[in-house]
Amino acid sequence: MAKKRDPIGPLMDLNVGVQPLTRLHKLANAMRAGGVPLAALAETTTIDEQTGVVTRMMALCGQCSGPCCSTLRIPITRSDARRLAQNLKTTVARLPLLPLDGLEEEAEDLAGYLSKGQSPCAFFDRGCTVHGFRPDVCRSFGLNACIGTGSFVPLRLPNRAAGPC
Ligand code: SF4
Ligand code: SF4
Repeated sequence: MAKKRDPIGPLMDLNVGVQPLTRLHKLANAMRAGGVPLAALAETTTIDEQTGVVTRMMALCGQCSGPCCSTLRIPITRSDARRLAQNLKTTVARLPLLPLDGLEEEAEDLAGYLSKGQSPCAFFDRGCTVHGFRPDVCRSFGLNACIGTGSFVPLRLPNRAAGPC
């Protein structure tokens, strides 16, 4: 049987209440300017009872052009890569991964990068197209990180086929 994941793990620090008000005001202003309803700040979390996999969804991401998926370094683990390959019915070798840099700080279980900050993740297309089985680093990227980077960029598209990040 597959080992259960820690259902809380990276979600521990996602307490919106600890954000300085000034940051929330800044975000709210960006949302207003982009015509995005403030209700888009809602977050929902589900835990798969069978596998323990946590899926957290920021409604906000569905309204955003996703700069976090294009301008940050996004390392993924071998286990992330296997999950992506399995769900995409391909092999790890065929995934659109950027190679490791051979740096000392790269963890041993890294498979590669989805982005090194110079180009968007290949799975981003007006939202995350692999949302249900996206890598752990993407799952743990929440409101705190978003506001921390100040990267929220409202998108003015009314209908989006892809899921939020
Ligand atoms: S910048 Fe923030 S709102 Fe936009 S996609 Fe990234 S996490 Fe979501
Ligand atoms: S897998 Fe999805 S959430 Fe992760 S970087 Fe790519 S588009 Fe963004």
